Amino acid sequence: MNQTGEDLDTLVLNKERAGRKKLALGMYFHVPFCSTTCDFCAFYQEKPSKKGIESYFRGLEMELSRFPPDRAVSTIFIGGGTPGLLQSDDLERLCKLINSTGLEKSYEWSIELAPSEINPEKLQVLKGQGVNRISMGVQTFNPTFMDALGRKHPVDKIYQAYQWIRDADFPSVNLDLLFGAPGQTLADWEADLAQAVDLQPDHLSTYCLTFEEDTAMYVRLAEGKVDIDPEREARFYEFAWDYLPAHGYEQYEVSNYAKPGHPCQHNLNTWGMNEWIGYGPSACSQYQGVRRKNIANLEEWEAGLQPEGTPQFMEQEKLGSIDFARDAVLFGLRMNQGIDLGQIATQFDLQMRVFAESAHFLERLCHEGLAEKDGSDAFRLSKQGRILCDAIACDLPELAGV
Ligand code: SF4
Repeated sequence: MNQTGEDLDTLVLNKERAGRKKLALGMYFHVPFCSTTCDFCAFYQEKPSKKGIESYFRGLEMELSRFPPDRAVSTIFIGGGTPGLLQSDDLERLCKLINSTGLEKSYEWSIELAPSEINPEKLQVLKGQGVNRISMGVQTFNPTFMDALGRKHPVDKIYQAYQWIRDADFPSVNLDLLFGAPGQTLADWEADLAQAVDLQPDHLSTYCLTFEEDTAMYVRLAEGKVDIDPEREARFYEFAWDYLPAHGYEQYEVSNYAKPGHPCQHNLNTWGMNEWIGYGPSACSQYQGVRRKNIANLEEWEAGLQPEGTPQFMEQEKLGSIDFARDAVLFGLRMNQGIDLGQIATQFDLQMRVFAESAHFLERLCHEGLAEKDGSDAFRLSKQGRILCDAIACDLPELAGV
């Protein structure tokens, strides 16, 4: 169901909370263009065209002036889609728009780039505009699995693009890897991890292939041509959990690893239930007590932002402290450092009794070997618990209302 910006304006926004706590603020920009659709991808994207790109920039300018950040921004993430499909002058235009908003003195500014779209000219533009973190979508170094995933770039492109990124001297570089492709063995996964480690990026994200509806991969699943094997997926996860820390990458979340000083601040901001504003079709925001998702349609998104239009949202929900606290628990349990219920209570101005059932639940997990206690109110999942973290999240009791 679509909801409108007028609905949003009538909501009692939780400005006091944002102001009082001085939550960190991030911005996310969704660039909705891809030249082809990867077989596993369910993100909103469409083929780039001059008309579409112009429409995107018109919408973005209006969206930024209609929903400007109310304070300095500490993290920026340009994702997609394929932001690297934009030519250098359009990348510069996008970055200048971002720079026209207030940024904290020390900020993290990431952009996702696909290997085949990277060139030295674009990298120079991004660096000159203040981008300081490149996230490259490698997925796999194995041509067979690259083909199975519907990725079109040749493997050589990865190495060339990575060299250009390093030559441009960006302070932080992430590589995204995907595991669980049909037919991939543990030895294949080890080979991918070894090749990634050889490049010595600062950060690695390792995601399990998921079968999202309306993707080519999902159709193959429905036709019985591929299957889901949770035990195999668990073995792949566990392998990375041992392999990457042994090679200098500290795990800080189920799927994320970093060298010292390089965890992704934008992700930490999100998982810590701080605030961010999403710009572009299908972008999500969590801001001033409201979580919402922009309409996933370039034309309708732009039309809604016109002076006479009404911004269109696919989802929109006003949330209270209890909702944010519960999500802080859920996301916190995915992190290696775990959660401190006392700290979460303080962050969201809640009393500890709100967490009574959750604490009992977590104590029970400790007895079952799925969690460990780290202090009087602090818990983290054990290795076995992290394998089951999705199931644990489903079973976590609701927080009691105040
Ligand atoms: S995975 Fe990335 S590059 Fe591939 S279709 Fe999806 S958004 Fe585009």
